[in-house]
Amino acid sequence: MVRDILDKALHGAELFPEEVGELMNAPLSSPEAEQIRNTAYLKSVSAGEETAEIHLRIELDASPCLTNCRFCPFATEHNLIKKRSELSLKKAVAQAVQGVTEGANALVLVCTGAYPFAQFVEAATEIRDHTPRGTVLIAHMGDLSKKQAQDLRRAGFLGFYHAIRLREGRDTDISIDRRRATLRYAEDAGLLLGTGVEPVGDEHTADELVERTMWTNIINPVYSGAVARLNPPGSEFAKRGAVSEARLCHLLAVIRLALNYDVPGLYTDAPSLNRCRAGANLLWAEPDGHTPTMRRMFGAHRNRTIADCRRVLTKAGWKLLEGPSRIFHHVES
Ligand code: SF4
Repeated sequence: MVRDILDKALHGAELFPEEVGELMNAPLSSPEAEQIRNTAYLKSVSAGEETAEIHLRIELDASPCLTNCRFCPFATEHNLIKKRSELSLKKAVAQAVQGVTEGANALVLVCTGAYPFAQFVEAATEIRDHTPRGTVLIAHMGDLSKKQAQDLRRAGFLGFYHAIRLREGRDTDISIDRRRATLRYAEDAGLLLGTGVEPVGDEHTADELVERTMWTNIINPVYSGAVARLNPPGSEFAKRGAVSEARLCHLLAVIRLALNYDVPGLYTDAPSLNRCRAGANLLWAEPDGHTPTMRRMFGAHRNRTIADCRRVLTKAGWKLLEGPSRIFHHVES
């Protein structure tokens, strides 16, 4: 019974995969699905101590990427992004300073697989030197060696975002073992992990989503969540279709219920009222994201200012955290 599973989740007991499956399979417009979203919100409020956060993504480049994850618009095989484009150090610092001033609780530095690691560390060092002491830096990049993970920690990163992608090894050329090794190196280096179920498309089955949901709890992250795939136009993914907003909200709620209480954050990328009412208490703001080409392809989806995120979270009943991320500091305090 869905009601029994919800009680169990709310009381902090770990759910079995079959129970998560039962929640995932509830019809989206059923009363049970509404109960799932409402209960997830309650669990999120409790796990997150009633506060929500906004993390600012700073994209250091938007370049054709030879790693060629097939769902990614940057993959060279799609030929959508034709030339390298990098954010200058000056602009990266300006975005960081403005973001912190506007109330971002953490800065997520993002790059494609084409961006040199040393340059990534250099950008982080520069940003760290120009932002207030205690500013939380999170790295979002490709796979790491053991030494690179240590270098990130030394450069001042507190967090590392990484995920085993849906259909990893089929829709990408990266093995699950490689992803696991990166996560282990990051954790050993003292980086706190953020992760998620992504990139979600219309074709992903409930079983696939359950399997990834269970996994995100196992790696002991400080947050998990979900994002929808941005289908590269003209690709086979565009034919597979985009996940509906209703299904993504449902997925977020189920992830929250499957997560332990010591995971304070549930993230998503778009400032959506329904997602925040389903328990999302961490939004990625991205006011300056991507190249003009990407903005043309994906339009308003990329316009996510800190003010947009704040407005939506507040409307969903969340109290906004002021100052550095609590999600990333709760482990240390
Ligand atoms: S490594 Fe990142 S940027 Fe490169 S193709 Fe894969 S998802 Fe896209």
